[in-house]
Amino acid sequence: MPSSSRAPWHPTALLLVLALWLATAGNLPLWRALWKLPETHGLQSVVTLGSLVLVVLAATVLLLGLFLWPRWLKPAGIALLLITASSSYFMSSYGIVIDPSMLTNVVQTDMGEALDLVSWPLVVTLLLGAVLPGLWWWRQPVRRVGGGRLVLQQLGVGLLGLLVAVAMLWISFQDVASLMRNHKTLRYMINPFNTVYAVARVSVGRAAQAQQTLQPVGMDAHLMSPGDSADTSPLIVLVVGETARAANFGLGGYGRDTTPLLKQLQSEGDLVYFSSVSSCGTNTQTSVPCMFSPQGRETFDGGDTRQENLLDVLQRAGLAVLWLDNQSGCKGVCDRVPHADTRNLNLPDICPEGECFDEAMLRALPDELARLDPERRARGTVVVMHQMGSHGPAYYKRSPPAMKLFQPECTSHALQECPPEQIQNAYDNSLRNTDHLLAETVRWLQTLQRPTALVYVSDHGESLGEKGLYLHGMPYRMAPTEQTHVPMLTWVSKPLQQAQGLRLDCLRAQAAQPWSHDNLFHTMLGLARVGTTARDGTLDMLAPCTGPS
Ligand SMILES: [Zn+2]
Repeated sequence: MPSSSRAPWHPTALLLVLALWLATAGNLPLWRALWKLPETHGLQSVVTLGSLVLVVLAATVLLLGLFLWPRWLKPAGIALLLITASSSYFMSSYGIVIDPSMLTNVVQTDMGEALDLVSWPLVVTLLLGAVLPGLWWWRQPVRRVGGGRLVLQQLGVGLLGLLVAVAMLWISFQDVASLMRNHKTLRYMINPFNTVYAVARVSVGRAAQAQQTLQPVGMDAHLMSPGDSADTSPLIVLVVGETARAANFGLGGYGRDTTPLLKQLQSEGDLVYFSSVSSCGTNTQTSVPCMFSPQGRETFDGGDTRQENLLDVLQRAGLAVLWLDNQSGCKGVCDRVPHADTRNLNLPDICPEGECFDEAMLRALPDELARLDPERRARGTVVVMHQMGSHGPAYYKRSPPAMKLFQPECTSHALQECPPEQIQNAYDNSLRNTDHLLAETVRWLQTLQRPTALVYVSDHGESLGEKGLYLHGMPYRMAPTEQTHVPMLTWVSKPLQQAQGLRLDCLRAQAAQPWSHDNLFHTMLGLARVGTTARDGTLDMLAPCTGPS
């Protein structure tokens, strides 16, 4: 279609063409999902579906009519095509939906994580959904229309869109409302409104946060029994897992032995596995700040309040605190404490292609600890190791060759192209690598002549194809258990058990209780012997089993 042979478009007419494309082709995953629902069959449902298509079209016309003025019509159109094509791809391939926390997730993704998502199906989708229509869009000549008239015409079209949308909703409100109520994820599938809404929510949240001053937590924090030398004071390691789900954890009764080394430690008596722990969020940037926060999941609400966290309180009490990261950062949690990133440590043998296996953290730990303030180290130390864990979709990259017991592995970034058992193999091998990291860390702690402990908990779970879902990040209310049920364990050395009067038989007896990330803040403070009014003893998982029986 040579662009020069055609009469130039009226800008509003071209805008309608874009709206039509976005509402139909740009929403294919939504229409397909609706079509597959059991209640969308028969004559009545054709009316419901038809009116929904019209509502989406009319709402798109309203949106574009209000915001897409000729000055930025072309680039904004390209952006919308790219957004709808890529979100369509991820929705239909992984069963994810686009909500504010998913958007934050996308924004905080680093280069390595982004490259893990690139696959041929994505390239083809972008070509058909954004590049080709984008080329056509860019080449269309547009007529110049006078200012006042254009404003009237465009607002008129927008208003018409509003009227049609309201009328269609009026006619089919009952059916549409019940559809949206019964299938809550649908509302996060409407392109481009899902993205527009998420961008607005995130920006407003950030703006509000930027204006707040950091609220202190635990100003009265103090050590109840400070150590007096770096060789004899307590050392507590908290490992923050990534994307490990309880369902595949050997210690939790999974059919495959994904945790042989931890099982060995369990049989030696000092390790307790908590089998019913739920996460605060379904993605890293919700769960990580939330688990370190004194607020529980119910009040955390995306972390809209700027507040100090567990690490600030530990540091204020006088302890040496260190965050070691083998992932895309600590999401603000470690901003005010010493932190180090494995990628800057120059360990070529376990960091192929710039990404390190989690073992790199253990390798770096002794040197990094020695760098901390000696006065603080004499009182005691808490280290957080933030794993790469089972970060997807490239699970096969999360275990070195020696850990790959389950074969063959899925090595495609487009998970839906792999047989389910290959995805499971790659994922389970990544858990074996976590097993290795945790057990090796414990073995190292055992060599030290001081009271030590290790606490491990994953940040969220993962869907591996159940109900057509992959990865994680579902809005919490709608998330399947696979994404929220996480493995958690403690290993406490005999000297620390004795020092604190911790009775492990008591702890094992209540290990199956329903705990959650809400308990971590209070449990860690208890374990580190930090006294503060910020700690709620009733939420400390170890408290009922600590002290004289
Ligand atoms: Zn995560």
